[in-house]
Amino acid sequence: MSENLKSTFIYSDEFAKYSYGPHHPMRLIRLKLTHDLLQAYGLFERPEILKLEPQPASEEEVALFHRSDYIATLRGIDQGIVPPKPFIYGLGPGDNPIIPGVYRLSLLVTGGSLQAARFVKGGRVPVAFNIAGGLHHAMPDRASGFCYIDDPVIVIKELVNQGQRVIYLDVDVHHGDGVQAGFYDTDQVMTISLHEDGQFLFPGTGFVEEMGRGVGSGYSVNVPLYPGTDDKTYLWAFDQVVPPLVEAFKPDVLVTQLGVDTFVDDPLAHLRMTTHGFCQILERIKSFGLPWVALGGGGYHLANVARAWTLAYAMMNDIELPDQIPLECVETLQEHGLQGTQLRDPEPTQLIHQHVRQFAERQVKALQQKIFPLHGLTE
Ligand SMILES: [Zn+2]
Repeated sequence: MSENLKSTFIYSDEFAKYSYGPHHPMRLIRLKLTHDLLQAYGLFERPEILKLEPQPASEEEVALFHRSDYIATLRGIDQGIVPPKPFIYGLGPGDNPIIPGVYRLSLLVTGGSLQAARFVKGGRVPVAFNIAGGLHHAMPDRASGFCYIDDPVIVIKELVNQGQRVIYLDVDVHHGDGVQAGFYDTDQVMTISLHEDGQFLFPGTGFVEEMGRGVGSGYSVNVPLYPGTDDKTYLWAFDQVVPPLVEAFKPDVLVTQLGVDTFVDDPLAHLRMTTHGFCQILERIKSFGLPWVALGGGGYHLANVARAWTLAYAMMNDIELPDQIPLECVETLQEHGLQGTQLRDPEPTQLIHQHVRQFAERQVKALQQKIFPLHGLTE
């Protein structure tokens, strides 16, 4: 194996074989669309890029966060046992259907995230990306928000057990509530989530006042944003909050959840991000120069997911891709919502929506007053 690896990409065609059902917004084909677009751009032919098949996580690893009766319930589903009271575990018709093979799928996703973390922690690569990961809503005893096993929590638990200080940064449009819950009482992990305000969107949490508890006080950070928030206001809020806290916390490792349901045409939420804003977030994350475990996340406009994560992975490898999408991918992506044939969105018109901006300013101000002093930062 080359010792000059630049990154690892974790992926299996197996992911796309599972289904949440024909009418469910979570479509695992988005992972294949992303992989195939990266492949068409030639990334996997490069010697500095290592593509890896994920290995399933063990039950012991999953038990780092999840309760044994919940794990047994998921395992049972794969063995054809219908749980008698699925709803107590958040399972059933709706967000978290009883998918045949759900346990196998979850173990594979989680195993991929653990592999990403091990490659990074071991110094083999500066960055590893598991696009199937980032399932940030799952709780110890229940499925939530299309998430069954909380791979970010399990990855971070393993890193913490090895003495690492971790920043978890979540740019999904939904609050990273499961991960916040996993580390609410500790100062070894700082969770930072930017998301659409919980008054307007699932899971209804993630307010500034949720700051952590006990020694963990000041280590849960939430930046709620108003519906309609665009690239400019988002990046402004990001810059006010994230770099100073990363600087003050001095993490050993960065774990990011890179959900792209923040985009303007995502069917499940109401922010107005484009590939331009998303790439600027990536640029900032990269500039921290930290060992980086990159996980996927939400994204329900399928062609957007493929475009955004292709751009993200190219950036992780310092590759500038041509804007013309390779011909072999155009038709398939158009079937999944692509307009035109370009990788990047058109430059957005930068209208300042006063209400959106003022809302962000109030949240940032509150964070600077409540959390910054706990880390020796002044406003
Ligand atoms: Zn989401």
